[in-house]
Amino acid sequence: MTGDPYGLRRRDITDARVLAAMAAVPRAEFIPEAHRLDATADHPLPIGEGQTISQPYIVAWMMQELRVVPHQKVLEIGTGSGYQTAILATLGAEVYSIEIAPRLAARASQTLTRLGYAGLRLRIGNGYDGWKDAAPFDRIVLTAAPPAIPQILTDALADGGRLLAPVGTERQVMVTIDRKGESLTRRESLPVRFVPMR
Ligand code: SAH
Repeated sequence: MTGDPYGLRRRDITDARVLAAMAAVPRAEFIPEAHRLDATADHPLPIGEGQTISQPYIVAWMMQELRVVPHQKVLEIGTGSGYQTAILATLGAEVYSIEIAPRLAARASQTLTRLGYAGLRLRIGNGYDGWKDAAPFDRIVLTAAPPAIPQILTDALADGGRLLAPVGTERQVMVTIDRKGESLTRRESLPVRFVPMR
């Protein structure tokens, strides 16, 4: 990949660590063979089970908004292809990722192992149940949209932590939640379109 993966620099992706991670992770490896030739284009692609791998720009935007620092504990809901999981690992996060579709979870696990990503905690389960025995998390990121942010997830956010999620049904918007002690602040940003959280 060149110095401007997916044309991200031309947009509003300025974080050097995010750009480096986006350049380092081979997106094609996470995409079924039938669609591999499209891997470097900036749009979502099917990964089976009616799900999609996110558009690179959105992954980069989310990673920049999430402000991941090495060694932070990060919970990802919706492993999907494992692509964003690999980006999080490349950013130095200690990654916990939950996927509800067993076949996608199995394929993501194989891909990540084959590419040499080690120490990832992957689990088949429902994101609405959270990951109690590993909480709290410094960062939580959802890649499927709930109608509202589940309280079990904001409860699992560490002090100083940040949660990022697409929220809504027909109309979705990206929501950032920051925790300071007992207080939560909420900010809405990008209009988005993600698969619904089941
Ligand atoms: N970031 C992923 C995108 C995956 S799409 C990638 O880059 O490939 C969203 C994923 O969320 C799908 O794989 C879907 O199966 C999963 N999902 C939907 N509802 C879920 C839930 N309740 N708990 C966990 N995963 C869920």
